[in-house]
Amino acid sequence: MVSVTGTLIWYYYICPREVWLMSRHLNPSQDDPFIEIGRLISKEAYQRERKEVRVENIVIDLLKSSEGEVVVGEVKKSSKYEKSAKMQICYYLMRLKALGILAKGVLLFPKEKKRIEVDLTPEIEEELKNTIADIKAISEKETPPPAKKIKFCAKCGYKEFCWA
Ligand code: SF4
Repeated sequence: MVSVTGTLIWYYYICPREVWLMSRHLNPSQDDPFIEIGRLISKEAYQRERKEVRVENIVIDLLKSSEGEVVVGEVKKSSKYEKSAKMQICYYLMRLKALGILAKGVLLFPKEKKRIEVDLTPEIEEELKNTIADIKAISEKETPPPAKKIKFCAKCGYKEFCWA
């Protein structure tokens, strides 16, 4: 059974085929410049105020808040895939909630100097439960969902696999 992570949640909302590929540990090409830039931004931005913590199988970025509340931060290269990013952060909030920690989320887009606050609502929680079940169902299939050309394919680490 696949171990659901925030990354899988993020991919689910972009391309379910990626969920299948990642669940099989077929990792995308590491020299993909998009991945490299994303990694660099994530490492360098907000360095002073963030702290990475491991909660079971997930790694969460905790940000300091002036009011002393727990804030989970997620740094992204662009806000183009905002729904994916929002659901990923809500997944972290849901996991923390299950441990008795009530937190807020904030999405950070340093290149765009943008910041979006995210709250875990009952509706999102319900949607996430269905998403988690679907991710598990996809990962258990013998074959991946068919490839569908989307804008993201151009930057995807699996593009050689899907479209070569
Ligand atoms: S190349 Fe396109 S279809 Fe293939 S996994 Fe990536 S996003 Fe999905």
